[in-house]
Amino acid sequence: MHTTTSQSLYHEALDVIVGGVNSPSRSFRAVGGDYPIFMKSAKGAYFWDEDDNQYIDYLAAFGPIILGHAHPVITKAIQDVTEQGILYGTPTEKEVRFAQMIRNAIPSMEQIRFVNSGTEAVMTTIRLARAYTGRDKIIKFAGCYHGHSDLVLVAAGSGPSTLGIPDSAGIPASIAGEVITVPFNDPEALSLALDHWSDQVAGILVEPLVGNFGIVPPQPEFLQQVNQLAHQAGALVIYDEVITAFRFHFGGVQTMYQVEPDLTALGKIIGGGLPIGAYGGKKKIMEKVAPMGPMYQAGTMAGNPLSISAGMACLTELSQEGTYDQLASMGEQLESEIWNAAKKYNHTIQLNRQSGALTVYFCDQPVTDYDGAQKSDSKKFGQFFHLMLQEGIYLAPSKYEAWFLTTAHSQEDINKTIEAIYKSFKNLPH
Ligand code: PLP
Repeated sequence: MHTTTSQSLYHEALDVIVGGVNSPSRSFRAVGGDYPIFMKSAKGAYFWDEDDNQYIDYLAAFGPIILGHAHPVITKAIQDVTEQGILYGTPTEKEVRFAQMIRNAIPSMEQIRFVNSGTEAVMTTIRLARAYTGRDKIIKFAGCYHGHSDLVLVAAGSGPSTLGIPDSAGIPASIAGEVITVPFNDPEALSLALDHWSDQVAGILVEPLVGNFGIVPPQPEFLQQVNQLAHQAGALVIYDEVITAFRFHFGGVQTMYQVEPDLTALGKIIGGGLPIGAYGGKKKIMEKVAPMGPMYQAGTMAGNPLSISAGMACLTELSQEGTYDQLASMGEQLESEIWNAAKKYNHTIQLNRQSGALTVYFCDQPVTDYDGAQKSDSKKFGQFFHLMLQEGIYLAPSKYEAWFLTTAHSQEDINKTIEAIYKSFKNLPH
């Protein structure tokens, strides 16, 4: 396979786009690659690059493309809007219908506001938790990515009772000092942190099933414990379901496990591939949002007809009988063949899967938190990534990301992927 056009485009890109990419996770730095592959087109489960190589796509654009690329229902929804006007700056009926659709699936979102990205959605839930409680501090879990607003780009301190340190340049220490980071799946650390900061914590921000250091489900009862500890301390529980909502079933992880947060942030899938975010929660909390209440949040593009229509088309399609069974059954096949192939060629792996999303870790202990995920061998992952790429399988270029199945993957695609998995484990150095 030659990828010389990608290589030369990357050199041009480096000159004019910082780092050559418009989001750092698209670069191949984490997998030891010299340049990322530049894609030219996509349809269903496939990508074609600028050198006309074909790939089976398991990136799904980091999550939103759950129906596969250029799905006819979404394409039609977008085309219809382009003829009716793409941005009004006024309310529209579609926004109401879409909010009703989301609330029916995720009832804790009694009232909703649409925004333009997951980052905005999470950022606003934090502001709202602060406005509602009159407190400033936020607890988050180590290794969880919640977008790139200042408050959530903060890494763990050295212990459960220490404050965070900025994970990015440009974040004032005073802001990082408002964030407390504890390990995921560790109710004791959470309890200690809440004891320590007692009446200062506005909210606990949690991905109820982690998607950002790979797929890491909560231990039984962990989410109930989070709710209990938060509410005892007078703090709100905020679920970041940007990755998880509508991925494993028609609703959120909260409806799957029947645990209700106070506020929820959404993004990715609910836009059907167009930019979107949404936040929502209990009416008594949402009433603090302008124009009802004193917490300000606004957006020129918020609720724009293109994103809303694409999102509605996507959710309508996902609500068809059997969709999630199909994703889970393909996920199950991949899981069992990955285990078999690793065993056959003597590679030690861990694998976490929820329905049609999975992560392979190159380490010897089950991964239940960020510390565990960090132990996955980056070099081996990079080698595996490139071996799969050579076989025409496009995985996310980071050991911390998931493989996402889409409804466009066919049994033939799965079979080809399984062949590539065996070949890649066979050729993977020990
Ligand atoms: N929250 C989670 C869990 C995410 O995975 C992401 C993005 O990957 C975000 C928030 C930020 O969303 P966006 O990239 O749409 O701003």
